[in-house]
Amino acid sequence: MAGAIKSAILGYPRVGTNRAAKKAIEGYWAGKISEQELQDAAKAIRKERWESIKNAGVDYIPSGDWTLYDSLLDHSFNFNVVPERFVKQGLSPLDTYFAMGRGRQDREKGIDVAANEMGKFFDSNYHIVKVDHSPNTEFKLARNQWLDEYKEAKDLGIETRPVAFGPITYLALVRKSRDAPADFKPLDLLDKLIPVYVELLKSLKEAGAKEVQLDEPILVTDAAEQWGDLYKKAYSALAEVGLPITLTTAYGRVGKSIDFINDLPISAFHIDVNREPGQVDEVISKIKDSKIILELGLISGRNIWKNDLKASKEIADKAVSELGADRVRISTSSSLLHTPLTLKVETKLTPEQVSWLSFADEKCAEVAALAAALNGEETEIYKQNGKDIESRREFERKSDPAVRDRVAAIKEEDLKRKNPFPVRREAQQKKLNLPKFPTTTIGSFPQTKEIRVARAKFGKGDLTKEQYETAMENEIKNVVDIQERLDLDLLVHGEPERNDMVQYFGEQLNGFIFTQLGWVQSYGSRYVRPPIVVSDVSRPEPMTVRWSSYAQSVSKKPMKGMLTGPVTILNWSFPRADISKEVQAKQLALALRDEVVDLANAGISAIQVDEPAIREGLPLRKEDWDNYLKWAVDSFRLSTSGVEDETQIHSHFCYSDFGDIFPHIQRLDADVISIEASKADLKLLQTFAEHGYSNEIGPGVYDIHSPRVPSQQEIQDRLVEFAKVINPDLLVVNPDCGLKTRAWKETEESLTNLVAAAKWARENIKAQTP
Ligand code: GLN
Ligand code: ZN
Repeated sequence: MAGAIKSAILGYPRVGTNRAAKKAIEGYWAGKISEQELQDAAKAIRKERWESIKNAGVDYIPSGDWTLYDSLLDHSFNFNVVPERFVKQGLSPLDTYFAMGRGRQDREKGIDVAANEMGKFFDSNYHIVKVDHSPNTEFKLARNQWLDEYKEAKDLGIETRPVAFGPITYLALVRKSRDAPADFKPLDLLDKLIPVYVELLKSLKEAGAKEVQLDEPILVTDAAEQWGDLYKKAYSALAEVGLPITLTTAYGRVGKSIDFINDLPISAFHIDVNREPGQVDEVISKIKDSKIILELGLISGRNIWKNDLKASKEIADKAVSELGADRVRISTSSSLLHTPLTLKVETKLTPEQVSWLSFADEKCAEVAALAAALNGEETEIYKQNGKDIESRREFERKSDPAVRDRVAAIKEEDLKRKNPFPVRREAQQKKLNLPKFPTTTIGSFPQTKEIRVARAKFGKGDLTKEQYETAMENEIKNVVDIQERLDLDLLVHGEPERNDMVQYFGEQLNGFIFTQLGWVQSYGSRYVRPPIVVSDVSRPEPMTVRWSSYAQSVSKKPMKGMLTGPVTILNWSFPRADISKEVQAKQLALALRDEVVDLANAGISAIQVDEPAIREGLPLRKEDWDNYLKWAVDSFRLSTSGVEDETQIHSHFCYSDFGDIFPHIQRLDADVISIEASKADLKLLQTFAEHGYSNEIGPGVYDIHSPRVPSQQEIQDRLVEFAKVINPDLLVVNPDCGLKTRAWKETEESLTNLVAAAKWARENIKAQTP
């Protein structure tokens, strides 16, 4: 029947079959293909995407959401916001664009320009490029990517719905330039930006577009509740163009903002139902008397589970009964950018596992099948879905009682070390005997080609277990020898055996499965393959003890054991949808707790449990913070509290701004933490000083994300700065993150300077009360 209810998706992965996008883009960077070849490859990928979505039966097919690097960067570039330092390099437009995303250095040609800042996109592991804006930023539609791609699809016979960030979300996400006045916010530029959007919408309308999708995910944050007037101003101007606007939200609930959204002259409004089913009734009751179409984001863009179509249909049926069929659409909760491309290529998963899952292509089919079902047609996919959901539920009921019981039996005292930090510190001092300003690293050392080759060969069976272990031991011995030669104080084994800090643990724990090609974009051409939690998590046997013990056996200096924390493992995996994240984090924490205890019993007296992802899991709404932080902090404490006072527990955090969760970092009660402390972060240290951080702390003394070697003087200067805000007795000297992406030469040079600076500090920085 002519379906009244239409289906849509908000966006689709950029990766292309066989990671074609990554290959073409990196091929261009490496000079292996020309710009024309890159553009041809890009065009082929876009075609493939549109055809896949169309073939799945989706009505509203997005265009303009594909990107060579990042969509937010595309907007800035299209709007002609190219900071002077990039213009100055005299690069081609394409190379200017890439330089804005990833920086560029070419000494011979005198090119040296740092990238724009990268930032997490909402609470996902995707990163946007935040271009600098200042009061004199001017906008101009220098490149109309949306129009170009709309026409490109149309030439292929495919009608699409162009997608752009809405103007408010755009301005809320970009960065304020460092030299802009203190009271300036990019949002102040709204009046200047609106005409560009008007021009864009006009061009789309003229080309025949029926509708435009403007993404305003910022509407799910607390801050946006104050922006009703800005929204009204922007969308009133845009509505005058006469092109129907679908305004979308994602990643959370719209909350109070629904009041002003309801007054906007938009044609449709999209909400994330998968994440926040509780908001549906409220939104319906608010918009009921308007003409706004409700686009229900029922199919998750964030997880990889098959949608329970029958349950979704019930929600949609209710919406239809309230609003009428012509005012309801079926959609994904967010762009599918956060999911892998297709299940079809996963030959190693069992048929049962495949039956639980849904990647981007399968999600497109789900969206279409759900719309069809609402229109009275029960497709094969819809019927099969019921069976698959039932078998998944069946599997979920077979939980591991031992794990469940153990989680249920967690007691308050399991979350506490035996004694407070000052007492522990004394015991650790005795045991470790470290000097003042002790030097250490964050864990990994350069992952050379030989290491990766050995790991790959072992994976394929070309190396025996003995051969592989010998290769790793040789590498560990080498890394330990180098650290001894450099005269570092607290050593590490270097993590050569790890492919990835999450996958490595997932592979050794019960409860995880892995895809072969389930790549998800993290930033630019970087893709990760998150493990999937499918059942209760437990540890069949020790995971790292073997390597840490070996490392300790070849040195008299203390060795630091290295683990990934429960919250980070969970945040960088696809979690189960049938039990809470809290329970999953606790299961992981218990498994890690056993590992921590085993390490300590094996004579490892310092153990680092990395939690770089603890900040990114923070909910978008402040009222949800306490709940998350409670279980996140408890999970970390649970994993680290099983040891005696004398075992020094370290933790490491990076990539984020911790000012707002400062008290919770303290609550982790790690003996030592290391944090990324790039230029801007002296401010962060100030926060630590103000609140009085009581345990040891190692703010990174240099940035490992660049091959640049910091001089001894530079490191000394930083230590002097740090010592002004932090009690020097508590200062630890370390780089700001792991060294696995660096080359050996710069690593040795940098660490030589780091050790020399620490020695200087021992003589020259006296305990001065900050
Ligand atoms: N221990 C890890 C490493 O050094 C930490 C990585 C991270 O912080 N992302 O590689
Ligand atoms: Zn780090």
